[in-house]
Amino acid sequence: MRSLLRYWGYLSLALAIAGWVVHLFTLTVVLILSVAAVGYFTLQAPVWCGAVTRTGQLCRNNSMGLLLGCHLREHKWQKLTMAFVPKKWRDINRGLWTSPREGMATLSGIAAAVSAVAAVAAIALH
Ligand SMILES: [Zn+2]
Repeated sequence: MRSLLRYWGYLSLALAIAGWVVHLFTLTVVLILSVAAVGYFTLQAPVWCGAVTRTGQLCRNNSMGLLLGCHLREHKWQKLTMAFVPKKWRDINRGLWTSPREGMATLSGIAAAVSAVAAVAAIALH
């Protein structure tokens, strides 16, 4: 159960998508679920660090969230600053697809972001 709880963001995203497809909830609920999922994937999902090390390899330490690095302070700093430097986006992009698990988290994060934006738009247009 514990290990399942670590993946709650996927469940949240699945519920948000269900909300779109079968109109299970109101748009506000879909929005909350989507925003929660975005937060989960950027800050909490269990993924590899993916920061570029001095040898040009990608760091394989476990970390939490696509935007945060592992326990090495240098890597946390590197990943956060990379997000604001367009020239470094290629490096970040490499780190986002290191294994199927990272790819899955990346795609889910994008889906959650799209869902959140769409929910905001849908609510605004009502
Ligand atoms: Zn690292």
